Amino acid sequence: MIYRDYGATGKKVSVIGFGGMRFGEDEDYAAEVVRRANELGINYFDTAPVYCNDRSESIFGKAFKKMPKEFYISTKSMVSKDPDADAVRKRIENSLQRIGVDKINFFHMWCIMDLEQYKKVMAPGGPYEGALKAKEEGLIEHLVFSTHCKGEDIRTIIEDKVFEGVLLGYNVMNHPFRQEGVRAALEHNIGVVTMNPLGGGLIPQHKEYFDFIRQHEDETVIQGALRFNAAQEGITVALAGMGTIEEVEENINTLKYPLTFSQEKTQEIQEKIIHDMDSLCTTCQYCTKCPKKINIPNYLQAYNLLLLKDAEEMQKHIAWLKQEGRIKANHTTPADCIECGKCEELCTQKLPIIKRLKEMAELYR
Ligand code: SF4
Ligand code: SF4
Repeated sequence: MIYRDYGATGKKVSVIGFGGMRFGEDEDYAAEVVRRANELGINYFDTAPVYCNDRSESIFGKAFKKMPKEFYISTKSMVSKDPDADAVRKRIENSLQRIGVDKINFFHMWCIMDLEQYKKVMAPGGPYEGALKAKEEGLIEHLVFSTHCKGEDIRTIIEDKVFEGVLLGYNVMNHPFRQEGVRAALEHNIGVVTMNPLGGGLIPQHKEYFDFIRQHEDETVIQGALRFNAAQEGITVALAGMGTIEEVEENINTLKYPLTFSQEKTQEIQEKIIHDMDSLCTTCQYCTKCPKKINIPNYLQAYNLLLLKDAEEMQKHIAWLKQEGRIKANHTTPADCIECGKCEELCTQKLPIIKRLKEMAELYR
């Protein structure tokens, strides 16, 4: 395992981190998966209150009762669910109890989507204040944030110097939109953890299409995608969701090759993104201002499958999104689009979102 300094926190964390959102039903086995990862050198474990139908924190709690090595735990609180300092305090106490630790090493102000939401987090009596107080009392060690903002907005937040690290969505498809944030983190010496290295499942589902990520004959596409994140300058930890011991071993095997990407490979990837992927949704999340609250990235990601394969694959992906709870029965659907055009103005790929949503609505009518 390779360990890197997490910004100025004094903590050395494993370059591959464990994402706790893919556990199955068997909680004893899930705890065993966590312990195996730790045995193989992973020391950064990431969870959140709602992951795996709200079971993820307790599964880590079970595993942590007899971990083979030292570890750090990261969990979160979201402004939409915990809108003020008191709610954050309760959230922290609840997480501590479920995880079974006396302090949370990395506590995230979760899922900051834009600067407006950031303002709500920082407002007097707001979530940040609650988390800061908990930090002063020793319940939290490091206060960090997680975001889907564009790179320039991530820079604005980092330059306020209120956080010690950032967790951001980053993969081979959407990395140009976050790069400015990574640069800012490097300049200010704060930790950067990446999530979503597999593009919301798109990369493993289309191994042939994404074969260009691999640099070595016996490397899998998943390993190539993970190594891509871990190899970027300024990135501390590349998180990967793990649900089985086989997945843990595959992810750790990523490190059998050096964490570098040749200049030719980097150029090839950039060209692919600019030319071949210009019709694909990169899941960058810039279009999340829909007045009808349609989850555009989820649907456009499913539409990618229609472009890359067929309607059946798209259907399967939607079924998976439902099963994962990312699309719920009470959510709005493509049929609710009022064609206001807001999303198309924001789309980094300049995709015909309205047309695609209409097509999907027709298909599922
Ligand atoms: S055009 Fe449709 S999907 Fe796009 S923001 Fe407006 S209502 Fe939402
Ligand atoms: S639709 Fe456009 S803006 Fe929205 S996630 Fe996809 S690429 Fe990004």
